[in-house]
Amino acid sequence: MMSPTHIATGVAIAAPFAVLTPELATLVALAAMTGGVFPDLDLFVGVHRKTLHFPVYYWGAVLAAGVLAVAAPSTVTIAGFFFFLSAAVHSVADWFCGGNELRPWEKTSEHAVFVHPLGRWLPPKRLVRWDGSPEDLLLTVLLSLPGLLLFEGPVRLLTVATLVVAVVYATVRKRVPDLAPWLAE
Ligand SMILES: [Zn+2]
Repeated sequence: MMSPTHIATGVAIAAPFAVLTPELATLVALAAMTGGVFPDLDLFVGVHRKTLHFPVYYWGAVLAAGVLAVAAPSTVTIAGFFFFLSAAVHSVADWFCGGNELRPWEKTSEHAVFVHPLGRWLPPKRLVRWDGSPEDLLLTVLLSLPGLLLFEGPVRLLTVATLVVAVVYATVRKRVPDLAPWLAE
């Protein structure tokens, strides 16, 4: 899935907690947004969907951060919990997308996301056929609703910006391999 979908997912994950604790809403949402985009930084360094995607190990971090946030609640520990939770969900969600290839609609790659403890790639499930596909954009729109309706200030603004990026990316997606191969790779 494209990064905007993961960012919107982060806000959606954070929304229930943010509603219960309005004073922490912005912090929690921003931490979840950051955790949502973080794994995709391996587009720029290492192997995409392997170097910073941890569909198993992030859950260990979620557990540790959760225990820490309960034992010693603070802005840092709570933000850390939502960061790792969002990164963990991202890493698993990519399994349901297309393969790790330049043109995922060609379905030549069987590499969805790397599972480090097993030392192998999971094959793509292709429920979302490729990042930036129409169904991916629909997911971004739906998952953006909490960010638009329940938040204000920077979270709502960032959600709007993320939506704009998503629409532009989905529009040009099939030309990305020619325009910016590093982005799709
Ligand atoms: Zn990813």
